[in-house]
Amino acid sequence: MNAQQQLSQIPIQQEHVPGAQSVRQWRRFSQYFVVFLLVVIPVSGLFRVDMMAGAFHMLDYQIWFADMSIIMGFWIMVATLLIFMYSWAGSVFCGWICPQNTLSEWANAMTSKMLGRRALMMDITGEEMKVALRKNRWLNKIVLGISFLLVSMLFAIIPLLYFFSPAVIWSFLTLEPLPEAQSLLWIYSVSILVVLIDVAVMRHLVCKYMCVYRIWQHSFKTRETLHIAYDESRSDHCENCTYCEDSCFLDIDPRQTVVFDSCINCGDCVAACDTLHSKSKKMQGPGLLSFAFGQSKPGRNGLTSLLSRTRAATVGAVIGALWFAVGIANYQPYVLLADKAELLQGMNANDYRINISNKRYRAANMDLKIEGLDASEYTLESNDLIWQTAGRKDVIMHISPDLKKGIHRFTVHAKAGDGWQDDFTVYYYAEGMAKAGG
Ligand code: SF4
Ligand code: SF4
Repeated sequence: MNAQQQLSQIPIQQEHVPGAQSVRQWRRFSQYFVVFLLVVIPVSGLFRVDMMAGAFHMLDYQIWFADMSIIMGFWIMVATLLIFMYSWAGSVFCGWICPQNTLSEWANAMTSKMLGRRALMMDITGEEMKVALRKNRWLNKIVLGISFLLVSMLFAIIPLLYFFSPAVIWSFLTLEPLPEAQSLLWIYSVSILVVLIDVAVMRHLVCKYMCVYRIWQHSFKTRETLHIAYDESRSDHCENCTYCEDSCFLDIDPRQTVVFDSCINCGDCVAACDTLHSKSKKMQGPGLLSFAFGQSKPGRNGLTSLLSRTRAATVGAVIGALWFAVGIANYQPYVLLADKAELLQGMNANDYRINISNKRYRAANMDLKIEGLDASEYTLESNDLIWQTAGRKDVIMHISPDLKKGIHRFTVHAKAGDGWQDDFTVYYYAEGMAKAGG
């Protein structure tokens, strides 16, 4: 029995994941679906940043930094779900989700089509780009340049959608800018420039040399994490073949992956070897590469193993979910405050500012009432407030200087048209007629 036959007798200690052959199509679907989601999330109003209010815009609600439970609960949940993902599937975020990688892969495919595969061999060495002789035409370079610019212009809109409403963006794109769109030209130009540099020059250099997030994901990898497995028992198929290695844009040899290498489980090498085997008459059987989880410790199945590795994250996820639920249950759609207005222009120590915020992006109205003072002892600028959308309103309350000397307790009572109501109690020290007048 020769060495090769002996190898083939050894059972492979891996738990293979079925369906790896179609991995390329699934990955493309995942990448483009993420880009689709990145557009749908802000356009649908699911999540945006309201810069004017210094708050998050989620559905119809304004979430302030003061809504600690919602913000912290949400981020703890997201962070722990990501930790689950890193622990179970390694750096799949890079290969299946990251839009920077999606863009880089598209740029590589375009470059390869227009200038040949060797034009992809760019690195920080500054080596000159090698264009295939039969593709070395101006037309190819111009088409490539224009496609880079158009895609950059398209992608550059995505970050803007998170800071400006679709109506503002649309008014800017149709050259009929609303007042809020005045600063957009500069922001959009910078955004295009950043994406263009990424697409034309940086691409996977960002992944290789700049991305800290990739290193963070690696820190959660273990031997039990999803990785590329190689069927060594049929390694004779690999004589004179480096197809999988050539297909890896991170320059890894997929036949020798180790736990802490930079593989992002994109599966391109799996698809490459599968394709090779499906086309070759000499090579029998499926490809030699597949996705696999490493062996769990004895007595533990995959799920038990995952849960034991992510015990802290599981506790964190439960705490995050509870905190988030408490925040949602206690969410206040309006905020009522009252404070001294003497620092405001034209005001004095007898003036109070009543500040009311509508935290929902919808029309609202509210009645204000003062309890604890006689109607002759104060004047209220307005006691009927109307909003068209979320926003803050100030109502100035002037307290009469004739108020008897001493501490007075009064309450600002607010009642919204939708039934919400709240009180704010103020203790006011009146200095008496002589002092106030003096
Ligand atoms: S593509 Fe398949 S056959 Fe070719 S070197 Fe890679 S693992 Fe071996
Ligand atoms: S080794 Fe395979 S799965 Fe890993 S990054 Fe390279 S091509 Fe992708």
